[in-house]
Amino acid sequence: MPTLEQVAQLISTTGKVVALTGAGISEESAVPTFRGSGGIWESYPPTIYANPPGLVMTLLWRPRRMADFIAEVFGTILRAEPNPAHYALTAMEEMGFLNSIVTQNIDNLHQAAGSKEVIELHGNLLKLRCMRCGHRKLMDRRKLEHMVCSFKRHSLSRLQILRELSRFFPKCDCGGRCRLDVVLFGESLPQDQFSLACKEMEHCDVLLVIGTSGAVYPAASLPCYARAKGAKLVEINPQSSSLSPLSDYLLMGKAAFILPRMVTVLRQLQQPSPQRGPSA
Ligand code: NAD
Ligand code: ZN
Repeated sequence: MPTLEQVAQLISTTGKVVALTGAGISEESAVPTFRGSGGIWESYPPTIYANPPGLVMTLLWRPRRMADFIAEVFGTILRAEPNPAHYALTAMEEMGFLNSIVTQNIDNLHQAAGSKEVIELHGNLLKLRCMRCGHRKLMDRRKLEHMVCSFKRHSLSRLQILRELSRFFPKCDCGGRCRLDVVLFGESLPQDQFSLACKEMEHCDVLLVIGTSGAVYPAASLPCYARAKGAKLVEINPQSSSLSPLSDYLLMGKAAFILPRMVTVLRQLQQPSPQRGPSA
């Protein structure tokens, strides 16, 4: 079993380090992984609720159910706050030990923790994207909170729900319509973000693979690509995953436990070793 100290030593002596994160890193921010028990897919099957035709049909025929779904998903993300794992990655970036984070998460928690270089493979639930010019912008948090509150009111009629939703997707400055900046089933990844992620994989020396099961493609192919280009893989996960056989180091445990300790060791390694006095 590799130790955390060995991995910290590797990180501190190598060139470029990149992190690939998945739903597991946000588990301790009370954003359940979709697949786990209590995950949103238990009540809202992804075949319908992560699927464009399914969403349109639900909106038309079961607007009340759609309002419940939106209130639950946005309510969870709006309540969530970064946990020590997110802050540890920010600290590593500030200390110069981490170049970028490539995330599959849509919860905005890396940015909320202060990380600067964040590549979002599956979009961001708190952003809108113009369907004409591709411009992305963060939504107004207060308006979102207001919408979640109103959707929780069961007295809303179908028309009120539809009206509330249409207000929510304003036009872009270019005149184009905006949609949520999230990748749904059957949609391709944002090309700009995926190209950036591939470049990070090509040039990194160490890839930290944190809290992802490796089940969702093409994101799951990135560790394999990084490894083929010569990177060492360090997996941080309380369980082994389909990416574990590829990993050079497996640190088994929760990210919010392991990463802050990694930062502590990296800080110690950064300190100049005490000067030895001349021997008498
Ligand atoms: P996944 O649900 O398939 O797998 C989660 C992985 O995290 C598992 O391997 C699990 O063992 C591990 N894990 C659980 N708790 C952990 C912890 N405390 N520390 C470290 N690891 C932990 O997640 P995925 O691979 O990211 O794929 C799911 C897809 O669903 C992604 O596309 C993602 O966009 C989306 N998703 C996002 C969020 C979010 O934005 N927070 C939440 C759920 C799902
Ligand atoms: Zn536009």
